[in-house]
Amino acid sequence: MSLQIRRLVAGAVATAMAVVLAASPAHAVFNPIGTEAQAPYAQPVDADVPKRGCTTTLSDPKNASSSTPAIQVIYAWHDGNGNNYSTYVNQIAKMVDRMDWILDESTNYDQHIKTSCRTGYDTSTYSGYAQALVIPVKIPNGVIGGETSPYIVADDLAAAGWGNANRKYVVFEDFDGTATAHCGTVCVATTDDWDAATMMHELIHLYDVDHAKVSEVPNSFSLNDIMISQYNDWQLDQEFNTYYDPSETTASFYTSAYPDTRYLNLANYSMFTTPTCCDVGYSNDLLTAQERTIEANTPYSTPTAFSVSGGGWMQVTPPGPDSNTSARYYDGRRSLTMNVQAYADGFVSVTRKPAVTAGQRYKFFARLTTGTSGNVKLRMSWYNSSNTLLSNSDSSLIALTTGWQEYNVSALAPTGATSVQLSVVSPSGQTFAYILDSLQLNQCNNGKTTDGCRLNG
Ligand SMILES: [Zn+2]
Repeated sequence: MSLQIRRLVAGAVATAMAVVLAASPAHAVFNPIGTEAQAPYAQPVDADVPKRGCTTTLSDPKNASSSTPAIQVIYAWHDGNGNNYSTYVNQIAKMVDRMDWILDESTNYDQHIKTSCRTGYDTSTYSGYAQALVIPVKIPNGVIGGETSPYIVADDLAAAGWGNANRKYVVFEDFDGTATAHCGTVCVATTDDWDAATMMHELIHLYDVDHAKVSEVPNSFSLNDIMISQYNDWQLDQEFNTYYDPSETTASFYTSAYPDTRYLNLANYSMFTTPTCCDVGYSNDLLTAQERTIEANTPYSTPTAFSVSGGGWMQVTPPGPDSNTSARYYDGRRSLTMNVQAYADGFVSVTRKPAVTAGQRYKFFARLTTGTSGNVKLRMSWYNSSNTLLSNSDSSLIALTTGWQEYNVSALAPTGATSVQLSVVSPSGQTFAYILDSLQLNQCNNGKTTDGCRLNG
């Protein structure tokens, strides 16, 4: 088996390959009994994974042209290992159920995978559901004694009549194959590493999502995401700013580092149901896409949705060097620059005050950098229903560096609090500039991590 970066990835292939291979040394062999990703917390045991069920059921699943878009799950075999469908069909269905759990559990939005089934089975039993969901297909040109490429798999599926624009084919390979995503006549997500996060990673690639990156820095990858470390992590875009934001489906994000120009939001994938609010999931966010990314304004202009008071003035970051990709004005990757002045404490604030519930924990994240040096604090200011300030919760003083690092402050909303204002505070006596991007406000209620919030990434 080889782990293959999908061929559509143009930029940073060498870096991405190195990261992926380093993250998966244990998976260099054909492994139909895979190990599920266990971060940010363990997936439920088999009996507790919700049964996804069939979105649509067809008597002839090859003829899907008038059907709703959906994934078609394939068990692929060839003469090398033979046909072990009856041995594996329940296990494969369970992995599809886990893929659906991964999508739904990643955020506080309810969103699910659309599945295509075939008629003729009693789907009230698990084995009947599994046989309706998972269809065995022989790959006649599969390589015996070597690796079968995704191109062979896709071509053989097409030759057998499986090419339909309403379907993405999710192919579990019972032979030496490849974890990859490939769109030819047929769009296939394939893997011979049988675990849900790996197959979900490949399915997400079919929506043209790249390996998760830190948006501010070229060729820098976020190491806690299903789109880069799928053998460890199952969560999708925990920062709501790289490729997936179910809370604001009109928002789109650059899915890869500069100079890649793909711009999308996975929440709109036709293979998924429309996201609805709200349940409890790993991550959530109480900001708008503009408040998180500062993408709506032109360079040099005043950032909308933000306010400044005290010592300093702000602007959308002017054109700058590659080391600060958010400073590039011509590709839409934007950030906020605060030009700190010494005469007073300076405050950059999100103007809107998101609603909070007293007694609940909240966590404010932001990425910050400077070309020189300087100190700031993150602040959550709590207000009551009369818009009177009750108190502030500050981080410790942060000495900024020339790297884009994520910082945070976490606190309980005090008694009487109904809203919160987020600010970055620069203590008086300093003259320097810092750049702000990737803000996020979590409500810490997932019940699974230590403080109920997402982890740093
Ligand atoms: Zn990949």
